[in-house]
Amino acid sequence: MSTTIRNAHEKINTTRFLTHDVSLKPFCSFHTGGSADIFGTPSNLHELRMLIAYARENDLPITVLGGGTNVLISDKGIKGLTIHTAHLKNFHIRGTLLCAQAGCSIDRIIQGSIEHALSGMELLGGLPGTIGGAVRGNAGVHQVHIGDLVEWVDYLDHSGNLMRTHKEELDFSYKHSFFSETTGIIYEVAFRLIPNKATSEAMRLKEQSRKERLDAGQYAFASAGCIFKNPEGLSAGAMIEKIGLKQKNVNGAMVSPFHANFIVNQTGSASSNDVRSLAQEVATQVKKQLDIDLEYEVQFMGDWSD
Ligand SMILES: Cc1cc2nc3c(=O)[nH]c(=O)nc-3n(C[C@H](O)[C@H](O)[C@H](O)COP(=O)(O)OP(=O)(O)OC[C@H]3O[C@@H](n4cnc5c(N)ncnc54)[C@H](O)[C@@H]3O)c2cc1C
Repeated sequence: MSTTIRNAHEKINTTRFLTHDVSLKPFCSFHTGGSADIFGTPSNLHELRMLIAYARENDLPITVLGGGTNVLISDKGIKGLTIHTAHLKNFHIRGTLLCAQAGCSIDRIIQGSIEHALSGMELLGGLPGTIGGAVRGNAGVHQVHIGDLVEWVDYLDHSGNLMRTHKEELDFSYKHSFFSETTGIIYEVAFRLIPNKATSEAMRLKEQSRKERLDAGQYAFASAGCIFKNPEGLSAGAMIEKIGLKQKNVNGAMVSPFHANFIVNQTGSASSNDVRSLAQEVATQVKKQLDIDLEYEVQFMGDWSD
């Protein structure tokens, strides 16, 4: 075993899919945060497994980064190995089953499904990020969540074992899946879609969903979407707006003027600490004024120790 791993280590050090001290700002939608100590970009299952073996051999923690559209990365960066899934971007279709590698962008998969006369994903038009991140957090809009469409997920554990879990065991609920509770690395996801020859109508719905986001100002500034989950039956954004915190600003991190549950990097010069300070202040004020506890939707990555 150790020979295999040592071989993997040697090979990895000479290949293009493992680099050191990589700034993560370009890889997250807040455009904040520090660097990854070690940054791996696998293009296939074999490379992904080699990276996992490398981390195990060197006793490194693994962090998985997809599109970086729902994370706040520490200004101190991420220790250990960060696996960026962007090059795991193949998909294929068999009948009504669309199988996509974890790093496929959601938008590309919607487009691909429509082009193959399959329906079900159009209302997710304009949702940023990758399939892996979306499945982990059961991303969606109120009409459809990605978990509604999943048939099975293939994932790797930190020993490199490939496993398949079917929809019944995936435990999808609001902003939650089986992967919210485990360290499994999603490799491939199969979606069961619906045959639909009305491709131009499907394309129209996709574009309409994307345009609604644009018109709502979601892309006006760098952000990671909603910072807090909605408490049951309530809207976090409506509460934050009600207590007058829209446009509250900490060093360029601002409560969005368009959507009070978005914190934006308004000037592009805010740090992750600025975003977190503002988010903490918002949560404190909501608790104080409305006696409601807000829970983060955004995932904190890296070293947040003081
Ligand atoms: C402008 C804007 C609008 C948004 N609107 C919405 C919306 O309407 N609805 C919604 O639900 N979300 C929304 N989001 C949030 C975000 O787009 C989604 O949550 C998206 O699915 C995250 O995917 P990602 O690839 O960027 O994940 P990342 O941000 O990279 O990661 C998120 C989490 O998933 C984990 N992860 C990523 N890939 C894998 C993998 N292969 N295996 C295991 N774990 C993995 C990461 O470790 C992290 O914990 C919005 C974000 C932005 C910036």
